[in-house]
Amino acid sequence: MATLDSKIPKGPLKDKWTDYKNHIDLVNPANKRNIDVIVVGTGLAGGSASATLAELGYNVKAFAYQDSPRRAHSIAAQGGINAAKNYQGDGDSFYRLFYDTVKGGDYRSREANVYRLAEVSANIIDQCVAQGVPFARDYGGLLDNRSFGGVLVSRTFYAKGQTGQQLLLGAYSAMNRQIARGKIEMFNRHEMLDVVLVDGKARGIIARNLITGEIERHSAHAVVIASGGYGNVYFLSTNAMGSNATAAWKIHKKGAYFANPCYTQIHPTCIPRSGDYQSKLTLMSESLRNDGRIWVPKNMEDVMAIREGRKKPTDLSEEQRDYYLERRYPAFGNLVPRDVASRAAKERCDAGYGVNKTGEAVYLDFKSAIDRYGKEQAKLKHITNPTAKEVYDFGKAIVEAKYGNLFQMYEKIVDENPYETPMMIYPATHYTMGGVWVDYNLMTTVDGLYCIGEANFSDHGANRLGASALMQGLADGYFVLPYTIGDYLSADIRTGKISTDTKEFEEAEKEVTSRLDFFINNNGEHSVDYYHKKLGKIMWNNVGMARNEKGLKEAMSEIKALREDFWKNVKVPGDQNEMNPELEKAGRVADFLELGELFAKDALIREESCGGHFREESVELDGLQKGEAKRNDKDYAFVSAWEYKGDPADAILHKEELEFNDIELKQRSYK
Ligand SMILES: Cc1cc2nc3c(=O)[nH]c(=O)nc-3n(C[C@H](O)[C@H](O)[C@H](O)COP(=O)(O)OP(=O)(O)OC[C@H]3O[C@@H](n4cnc5c(N)ncnc54)[C@H](O)[C@@H]3O)c2cc1C
Repeated sequence: MATLDSKIPKGPLKDKWTDYKNHIDLVNPANKRNIDVIVVGTGLAGGSASATLAELGYNVKAFAYQDSPRRAHSIAAQGGINAAKNYQGDGDSFYRLFYDTVKGGDYRSREANVYRLAEVSANIIDQCVAQGVPFARDYGGLLDNRSFGGVLVSRTFYAKGQTGQQLLLGAYSAMNRQIARGKIEMFNRHEMLDVVLVDGKARGIIARNLITGEIERHSAHAVVIASGGYGNVYFLSTNAMGSNATAAWKIHKKGAYFANPCYTQIHPTCIPRSGDYQSKLTLMSESLRNDGRIWVPKNMEDVMAIREGRKKPTDLSEEQRDYYLERRYPAFGNLVPRDVASRAAKERCDAGYGVNKTGEAVYLDFKSAIDRYGKEQAKLKHITNPTAKEVYDFGKAIVEAKYGNLFQMYEKIVDENPYETPMMIYPATHYTMGGVWVDYNLMTTVDGLYCIGEANFSDHGANRLGASALMQGLADGYFVLPYTIGDYLSADIRTGKISTDTKEFEEAEKEVTSRLDFFINNNGEHSVDYYHKKLGKIMWNNVGMARNEKGLKEAMSEIKALREDFWKNVKVPGDQNEMNPELEKAGRVADFLELGELFAKDALIREESCGGHFREESVELDGLQKGEAKRNDKDYAFVSAWEYKGDPADAILHKEELEFNDIELKQRSYK
């Protein structure tokens, strides 16, 4: 059985990655041509890894369930990507990005990984600019930056509100070059349904062709999982509808430990839920908190008047508004990290100050920004006494240039003009910091099985700072994995092709086929969505923004019962040998129903509040931490890595104790 060795190189923090690269084994160019690598997922992490590995000379087989890598969930990323370039001259450095990330993650990340991430962040921007990614530029033509939560510098590079899409087009064009050369074989509309181990090493996968239903065997010398996050375990989230945990969960069941499953990011700025028949939540990018101010009314009479339609938010004077983030966190104001902002919104709404009919909304207001920019523009245009309309028009034009597409999206969904009336927002599930446990090499606890991007537990601890998921995914794919995997593959240069005609492939294929047969033939009563929605409700109510022992125990047994019912009563229409989205969903929800239970079990053993994990027993009602001692106690600074033992309830906990040598483990403060 694999042991939990994070394989962090020795030596001073700032030299670890350089020394590591200087001393690893390499595969020479001629030998790379004889080595195959499977990459499951072609979002930013998998796409960048596939392109780079193929460029290096390996034979890559890349898999995605969409019809093109361009449709990966990464395309949804709006706000930006961080890099410690210090273009603004505002005091940024590798150390500061490293520090902000470890602190932002509530001291639950590995120092060595995070420092490496900060170091390679700068290369990512150069790489993407060379690919033609149209990052925003300032008036003089230099790359522009904005700020994201939890930091005091501007280090976020962006392409309007479409950063993920533009970065993905860059990675996709790099992939396409290799697809054309035959170095990447691209399997669109293919879903990996199991990993195949031979002598304890990952040597292939079983995939289903989603168009024909055919089950295929694919072999390689190493397998890389880049399948994204599992936020859809909550049913409602800001993730793409197809985002799922299947690839990660399947490898977990074959021996890869699953780390920190309960660390979920609940993003503070999403469009509030409108009812029970909704299947998706929409994010309003964190970049909006650069200019938007968050508030609720100070007085309960105004709250009630707004809810009953007797008053509009614009009727309230400055004195009648509570800009609660600016009040509570003057140093960071509206740009506190996401977990802090989400908890503060929940606290105000729980106290009765929510501004929509359900009482679950706060305002995000651009009036001050429009005013400020408008006056500045008037000055620049030498208009000494601008009219109110002139100020509004000038200011609106600037806000529109910065966030136009986000405002348009909001207006389309809510049917209100956010330039004139403040947006309404509420926290929603957005990102999963937990994921497959990996060591410094990004290898899981199974030899030759790697995991990158959002699918691994990686670098963000208990809370990810905004704009750092794209940074981590591309760091993993372009700059880290291509080195670390070579060190492993150097032992495989004489192995030769891996045959798929073996008992290991046969057994894995049989398992996959019998599960698909079950779904098609079960003829139960309830749709897959019926179970997914029920699971989502349990997760949100008991394992959501606030958690307690009783609720977590209830969640575990409710999920177990729901899972048992699913396996008796689920109904999947259609056939196996055709395109069948319900069949795809059935497999994914079956995995969510197991992951959900492990998630609750993980939350149960975390007695302290940290980042997105908010244990009610350790907090006061106004959202301030009571269990401070626990939170920054060394005993709680660990990674929980779970070993599968046939049922989520039986999973065995392995702790990776975290070392803090270059940063002092202490209570986070954003005041
Ligand atoms: C609305 C929104 C906005 C965001 N904005 C930002 C932002 O501004 N900045 C930032 O840093 N982060 C942002 N994030 C987070 C960030 O977008 C994601 O964390 C990141 O894009 C994940 O990239 P990935 O490559 O790991 O996974 P994904 O992009 O999710 O790609 C997963 C890939 O795996 C494939 N796949 C999955 N399972 C299988 C399977 N079983 N078989 C075959 N293929 C499979 C899929 O087809 C896909 O190709 C945002 C997230 C959301 C939801």
